[in-house]
Amino acid sequence: MFFFTHLLNIEIVDIDKYSVSKTAGHDKMKLVIFGPPGSGKGTYASRLKSKLNIATISTGDIFREAIKQDTELGKKIKKYLDSGQLVPDEAVIKVVRNRIAKPDCEKGFILDGFPRTVEQAKALETAVKIEAIINLLVPEEIIIERLSNRRTCRNCGEIYNLKTLKPKKEGICDKCGGPLIQRKDDTISVIKERFHVFEKQTRPLMRYYESKVPFINVTCNDIDMPPEEAIEQIMKELKKLNLTKRIP
Ligand SMILES: [Zn+2]
Repeated sequence: MFFFTHLLNIEIVDIDKYSVSKTAGHDKMKLVIFGPPGSGKGTYASRLKSKLNIATISTGDIFREAIKQDTELGKKIKKYLDSGQLVPDEAVIKVVRNRIAKPDCEKGFILDGFPRTVEQAKALETAVKIEAIINLLVPEEIIIERLSNRRTCRNCGEIYNLKTLKPKKEGICDKCGGPLIQRKDDTISVIKERFHVFEKQTRPLMRYYESKVPFINVTCNDIDMPPEEAIEQIMKELKKLNLTKRIP
């Protein structure tokens, strides 16, 4: 979730005038991935990216990167974050529009973490028509098991799991030797809270999309299920929807 105050004016290059024509858009695969925090969305998105030769777009990453690089956009986003209010949907949409016009989106893209609300979905529709939704269905117990065992390197951010992805030396990062810590938001009570917030927030969005866009539901009932299996499932469904025929 991004924050904003209405008094601040967000200035993002408006690419409307260079916007991709509707016909050009037919060559792209336009996907959205949904899933609760800890469902492995990022992992699936990056695997699909390499399989389909499409881009992954995370508005969170775009904003974080802008802040890191201290760009004009980054400076403004940081002000919103610090002031604790929501970034307006139009601003996020502009960022997304701008992003999908980049060369790496030529074959298509997969949106991760956006849209989050019906309002955002409606705004997105003015820019692009989503062709399929990949919906990760992961039970709360599995999320809890995965995230409560997650450890993060304090130095480099590398992620480990006490059950599935152990470091070679307990408590020490394989990559940089930094200390492994449990992030504050990886504790069980916080995980539960985030899961329920996600469910509550997403329900109306799912209802909105149900009649408009085909869903590819991926159910994960086993914490050890290899991502490849889910990816195979997703690829089969994309083929059924006739979406992969554009991919060489
Ligand atoms: Zn490290």
